[in-house]
Amino acid sequence: MGKPTGFLEYRRQTPKEKEPKERILDFQEFKKHDSLEKQREQGARCMDCGVPFCQSGCTLAGMTSGCPLHNLIPEINDLVYVGNLEEAYARLTKTHCLPEFTARVCPALCEEACTCGVNFAPVATKENEYAVIENAFRKGLVKPCPPKVRTGKKIAVIGSGPAGLAAALKLNQRGHEVTVFERSDRIGGLLCYGIPNMKLDKSIIERRKKLMEEEGVQFRTNVNVGADVKAKELLKEYDRILLACGASNPRDVNVKGRDAKGIYFAVDFLSRVTKSLLDSSLEDKAFPEIKGKRVVVIGGGDTGNDCVGTSIRLGAKSVVQLEMMPEPPKERTESNPWPQWPKVLKTDYGQEEAIAVFGKDPRVYCTTVDEFIKDKDGNLKAVRTVELTAKKNENTGRVEMSPVKGSEKQMDADIVLIAAGFLGAQKYIADEFGTALNERGNVKTKDSGYETFKQKVFVAGDMRRGQSLVVWAIKEGIEAAKAVDRSLMGYTNL
Ligand SMILES: Cc1cc2nc3c(=O)[nH]c(=O)nc-3n(C[C@H](O)[C@H](O)[C@H](O)COP(=O)(O)OP(=O)(O)OC[C@H]3O[C@@H](n4cnc5c(N)ncnc54)[C@H](O)[C@@H]3O)c2cc1C
Ligand code: SF4
Repeated sequence: MGKPTGFLEYRRQTPKEKEPKERILDFQEFKKHDSLEKQREQGARCMDCGVPFCQSGCTLAGMTSGCPLHNLIPEINDLVYVGNLEEAYARLTKTHCLPEFTARVCPALCEEACTCGVNFAPVATKENEYAVIENAFRKGLVKPCPPKVRTGKKIAVIGSGPAGLAAALKLNQRGHEVTVFERSDRIGGLLCYGIPNMKLDKSIIERRKKLMEEEGVQFRTNVNVGADVKAKELLKEYDRILLACGASNPRDVNVKGRDAKGIYFAVDFLSRVTKSLLDSSLEDKAFPEIKGKRVVVIGGGDTGNDCVGTSIRLGAKSVVQLEMMPEPPKERTESNPWPQWPKVLKTDYGQEEAIAVFGKDPRVYCTTVDEFIKDKDGNLKAVRTVELTAKKNENTGRVEMSPVKGSEKQMDADIVLIAAGFLGAQKYIADEFGTALNERGNVKTKDSGYETFKQKVFVAGDMRRGQSLVVWAIKEGIEAAKAVDRSLMGYTNL
């Protein structure tokens, strides 16, 4: 522990972000970052707890508390405090292989579980991670590590999201020959075509891709496995297949008027905007026209928030975000104590921007859409909303949201973005490999591990655990790599 009195002397400080009205002018990353000197003070706040919940990654009340990767957080914080970022990088990469992504987009489960947060504010661990990994890139510490010996085994990884990337990186470093198949034109999965550029600049993905290629990983983009290449061919050519295709099956809002023109699924919308941004700085206009339009986002979660921030950048006239559930409390309730993940109101970047531009929070709670209203040409012109109230289902004992009779209202809308969650993996790819899905739409595995019931086929990431977080996808990729390696070599040293 670097400074025993650090948590008493220094307050939590995270760098200032660009002002909302300034950052909506472009799609650049809006987070700023502090100098090493400032960051050292944040490292000094860490108390090196006897029981460091920050790195526990345990499940409490059905939610993850602490880092699923079990990053060696107290040690890293101490090394940041003493200014030894080189050693901190060595520590960080003992458990983590893609920290440049989580340092930008992770909701920081570690911070919400930090003991400092019980009375004050948590240690700025995510910002410390950013300082460590970006310093390592700047100083040339992140070098390609091709394996010294090749095993002669060939592995196909299907899907290049964080799960596929983590698995490919590990399996290649072990000496196996790895090819990653990706149906999009760029790698990264939702890191590329989901999370908007202002949260994660896409050059960060290219930087990692280059390193992995130098290490020997082969990427084959624009290959839709199941359509362009058949499972049969891959099973013949490769010793193992790892499916890491995500859980991109969107939940629809199947109400009257759903066929109106102007209704898009959130990820389709976000990915088209990012592709246009990367291909032509938005010049090709290959995305739905938003300028001057009244946008309604259905879904109050993180994906919905990304739709709000993106719509504002594209010049929407108004943005409303509908959320089925009631507004969460501002502070933890007694039934949600530390170190559980706090179920409290968070105002994310998109909502901050809406407040700055339109003067009010875009979120409307306990509300959904029960009809899409079209004009005579079939274009969306309004939505009919209905209020919801919480009711206990006597059969299941669970609380469900039910419509309140007579609460219907009409709201003008030109564009609807559906961000209502996901229903698991796409069936065609599971069917192609003969891997069954469970009742939640995720691929079934033996003993809840990573091996499917189909010989030679493994699965990782959202495709196995359902729509989750980047940190979980990376953890799954690493664990699946171990399982694949063990099945090939009889043991694993990964
Ligand atoms: C809009 C949005 C924003 C998010 N923001 C955050 C965030 O800020 N922080 C966070 O931690 N998490 C976030 N998440 C969740 C996170 O992105 C996912 O949990 C994570 O990317 C899952 O990784 P994965 O590798 O399992 O799958 P994915 O990232 O979904 O990657 C799967 C890949 O497989 C490819 N694929 C699928 N089928 C085939 C096929 N047949 N042939 C070839 N390739 C195929 C897909 O094209 C895709 O590239 C967000 C999710 C969304 C939708
Ligand atoms: S819980 Fe917080 S204070 Fe304790 S070791 Fe982890 S980061 Fe440091």
